[in-house]
Amino acid sequence: MPKRNDSDSRKLLRRLRDSLALPGQGQDRLDRITNLIADSMHSEVCSIYLFRDPETLELCSTEGLKAEAVHQTRLKLGEGLVGQVARKGEPMNTANAPAAKGFRYMPETGEEAYPAFLGVPIQRIGERLGVLVVQSKVARVYAEDEVDALEVVAMVLAEMAELGAFNSDEAMAGKHTHPLMVRGSTGQEGVAEGHVWLHEPRVVVTNPVAEDPLTEIERIRAAVDRLRVSVDDLLSVATLDKEQRQVLEAYRMFAHSRGWLRRMEEDIARGLSAEAAVQKEQSATRARMEQVPDAYLRDRLHDLDDLANRLLRILTGQGTDTGAEMPADPVLVARNIGPAELLDYGRKLKGIVLEEGSVGSHAAIVARALAIPLVIHADRILSEALNGNAIVVDGDQGIVHLRPEETIARSFRDKMAMQAQAQERYASLRSLPAESRCGTITALHMNAGLMADLPSLEHSGAERVGLFRTELQFLIRNQMPRREELAAIYARVLDAAKGRGVTFRTLDIGSDKVLPYMKPHDEPNPAMGWRAIRVGLDKPGILRMQLQALIRAHRGEPMSLMFPFIAEGSEFYDARAMLDAQLERERMLGHVIPRTIRIGAMLETPALAFAPDRFFREVDFISIGGNDLKQFFFAADRENELVRRRYDTLSPSFLEFICRIVARCQEFNTDLSFCGEDAGRPIEAMCFAALGIRTLSMRPASIGPVKTLLRRIDLTQLQGVIKTAIMDGENARQPVTDWLAMQTSD
Ligand code: PEP
Ligand code: MG
Repeated sequence: MPKRNDSDSRKLLRRLRDSLALPGQGQDRLDRITNLIADSMHSEVCSIYLFRDPETLELCSTEGLKAEAVHQTRLKLGEGLVGQVARKGEPMNTANAPAAKGFRYMPETGEEAYPAFLGVPIQRIGERLGVLVVQSKVARVYAEDEVDALEVVAMVLAEMAELGAFNSDEAMAGKHTHPLMVRGSTGQEGVAEGHVWLHEPRVVVTNPVAEDPLTEIERIRAAVDRLRVSVDDLLSVATLDKEQRQVLEAYRMFAHSRGWLRRMEEDIARGLSAEAAVQKEQSATRARMEQVPDAYLRDRLHDLDDLANRLLRILTGQGTDTGAEMPADPVLVARNIGPAELLDYGRKLKGIVLEEGSVGSHAAIVARALAIPLVIHADRILSEALNGNAIVVDGDQGIVHLRPEETIARSFRDKMAMQAQAQERYASLRSLPAESRCGTITALHMNAGLMADLPSLEHSGAERVGLFRTELQFLIRNQMPRREELAAIYARVLDAAKGRGVTFRTLDIGSDKVLPYMKPHDEPNPAMGWRAIRVGLDKPGILRMQLQALIRAHRGEPMSLMFPFIAEGSEFYDARAMLDAQLERERMLGHVIPRTIRIGAMLETPALAFAPDRFFREVDFISIGGNDLKQFFFAADRENELVRRRYDTLSPSFLEFICRIVARCQEFNTDLSFCGEDAGRPIEAMCFAALGIRTLSMRPASIGPVKTLLRRIDLTQLQGVIKTAIMDGENARQPVTDWLAMQTSD
């Protein structure tokens, strides 16, 4: 077999490029390519398999196999040698295909006559597009340089596909044009329809084949030099701490790695342009990233991926500004996004879809605060979505429909219209109390965390802000906010509340909320770790400063404040003593102090429900933080998709526990409220009210539905239904919904 060299490879790429430049349908082009590759690789067979859908590969063109098999032969991902190449994202090279592990006999293709098999993935930055195969009658293992050459060809095919070279063909047209449903998880409920806006636009390489390798090598060397200087600049920042420095050192090591540049130069010598060589290297990195289970190694591969992105931007001059215009109804699509960047977009976003993200991530907190539907863990959305694509975000179900069929889009429009109608109905109840048929009135408060939330106080008809989460003002900065700044923000919040009152919760950091400018602690289980009041008491500087800011912001008006995550009475007494000391200090400094002060504790750990009587006597009010309480009651991580919905709030044990808390509060005349997400779910909310919780604090959008329901029912009757379920050891959901159906059918 004649040995291939780089100039053979370059010749093949040029022929390929010229052939693709000829007019013709997608199928013609594919057929020309397979013919050309088979010829150039001295193989009787060359075939292109492309993904029909994410799980199925289809033979789309072949030189050498039976023509009838084209568009007929299909394989599942992982099935047969072709399916394995696609799944692993790595080449497979064997002299005896039928004897290879996983071989699947496909009689319709006639491939049994060709034992030598070399398959390489067609992928673009880790995005699987298909598999390119050459086969030969002579039982031989393809040489290393042949494997390299075929990989380079596959790379060019992937780029051409991205540029739409095969789009007129039905098989290829699937990419970026077919409707696609992606199942992720709920980050924030709600439904939205709009058009894709990519947070980081895709870098498009228009010239995968090099005109002149020497020029391309010069270009890549110059770009790598620029990249190295920019990474060195990052490291020269004086304020880096030890850990940040270590991370950046590793990053720098990659940027200076000789192997990285050498591999790209070798691909250029085989005929790729500088950009295509970077993308080929990046594809290999992404494929490895999927295979590596070790988190540390994955992080390092992420670094490499990130460097490749920077290098591509330098080479193509494409930054974040690609000239694309944001659609009027943007749905943000990103791998992940920081809270500050999300706030910059603000309420103009109709929806958010993240490929990564987590329920408790800062982005999710901001999305929730802005009431923007959010779907997280939307696998592959980044490789599928193009700027401007139509998209429907179903935050309720955690599903995204990209380029939806008209029927799907229509059914979502209907759902949204119904929701809008319901909101109108709720508006008519705005000024009425949540008075149930038995005469009991439940106070409905709203949760907030941003200045931007305050207008909802008016629209929703909430009596006041029952929980103001103060973390966001800390999380969105890259340095600790100053006391004056905070005081000004809190004062604006109070002004916007127009005398309705705001219950501020002091800083709940730690766990999922890590301040970017505070030294992170590597905790095995941060949700049960050093967080909230524990940090406030152990490192009192921040809490003291926050309390001073809060006192000043109130300018003598009544103040309501609660401490998060109190597990035992002493933590509450210590925090209260700290507040007393700050009040004294502020008074001495001549600041006016609030006329009245109510100091509460959040009950988020089961332990607090069993605190000694003294605690219940001394605390002004208790607010049940049901999100945390439930996760600790059931030992089920609220951020873990596998378990977070596993246990029901209406289980007899949890309701029994709620009854105990209510009874203890009643005994000592301690006000009790519930401010976790469950307070905004109508069925759960009415059960809490029936069990004696007189104040519920929830997202503004939930006030209408909860009020509507509460006004329709008799809480005394409902209490009877729940207590019977508890006594029978039954989950209350079914009896409660049956009872409700009877009420509403009257
Ligand atoms: C809760 O835990 O229910 C709560 C309101 O606090 P957060 O969701 O901010 O932890
Ligand atoms: Mg909590």
